[in-house]
Amino acid sequence: MPLYECAGNLHAHTRHSDGTGSHEDLVQAALMAGLDWLIVTDHNVRPAVAEGWREGAKGHRVLLLIGEEVHDTRRQPQASHLLCFGVRQDVNAHASDPQALIDAVNEQGGAAFFAHPVEHGTRMIDEELPWLDWDVQGYAGIEIWNYMSEFKSLTTHPLRAACAAFLPELFIRGPFPEALALWDRLSTERQALVVAIGGADAHAFKARWGPLRRTIFPYDFLFRTINMHVLTEEPLSGDLDRCRALLVRALRNGRCWVGYDSLAPTAGTRFYALQGDSEAQMGDSLPGARGPVTFHFAVPGGAELRLLRNGELIVQAKGNSLTHTDSHTGVYRAEAWRQAWGQRRAWVFANPIRVR
Ligand SMILES: [Zn+2]
Ligand SMILES: [Zn+2]
Repeated sequence: MPLYECAGNLHAHTRHSDGTGSHEDLVQAALMAGLDWLIVTDHNVRPAVAEGWREGAKGHRVLLLIGEEVHDTRRQPQASHLLCFGVRQDVNAHASDPQALIDAVNEQGGAAFFAHPVEHGTRMIDEELPWLDWDVQGYAGIEIWNYMSEFKSLTTHPLRAACAAFLPELFIRGPFPEALALWDRLSTERQALVVAIGGADAHAFKARWGPLRRTIFPYDFLFRTINMHVLTEEPLSGDLDRCRALLVRALRNGRCWVGYDSLAPTAGTRFYALQGDSEAQMGDSLPGARGPVTFHFAVPGGAELRLLRNGELIVQAKGNSLTHTDSHTGVYRAEAWRQAWGQRRAWVFANPIRVR
């Protein structure tokens, strides 16, 4: 079955909540960054902005979808932010009940993800907004890497915060180890797939240092950083309802990877497994009783490649591909890291293939 790849960003705020741009600004930024789709996720509001294809200057098009990031604003701290994709109607009425909220998203054919489930506050920005409601069911997955959460963790003093704001590529390293451990633990414990996503959490904050004014982390910058690459069964083009369903289904089914594209483009990454005549893509599962499974992981450039089973490293290799045959059951996932600016940095996180 041929698969079609497209790239987008799924965590961004406009001035309808605490961002500074309009939907049109975000669309222009997504076009500049070369994204195929964009899901805008304002806090606790789903503005009545038309979804659909928007055309850029050179005939490039981007699909704009309106999602929502919902949490209970009466709670302190205002934690447990839920990213809601594929919703047609506002689900904010369920903000005080995370389970009812997830159910409402699923009833609309959407997909719900825990936003920044792990956070590290600092003395400068001490507010932590992790996920706290662990007894819920029916969520699609978790945001393992949130650009703004990582930036927040770097604001340990004003000079370091300023350096990280001006030269973020020197500072951004990857998901918090606790977030990866959480993903692995949930994936292993839970019967269902736990899909990993990564988001920019773009706001385009306006900062002031004395007379200096600057937009820190503009939208078009962030839309080149932590993106989602999705494989769909049909090309993402044409009818809006069909495209929304294709995209949300690929996200919910884990047929996608998190790519830190400004480190190096991650388009063309593949993680799949073969067992006899059967082929499994990211997010799929295979029956362990049918014999050994051969995993293939390929990335578009030299990297440190790692294959993990139930969160434990089982093989690693340097280069742009890795193949491994295994007969254990478990949750297999693949990741790639690269060296840049003297540091090892996260590059690709592929969603798991489960052997049961
Ligand atoms: Zn949030
Ligand atoms: Zn957000």
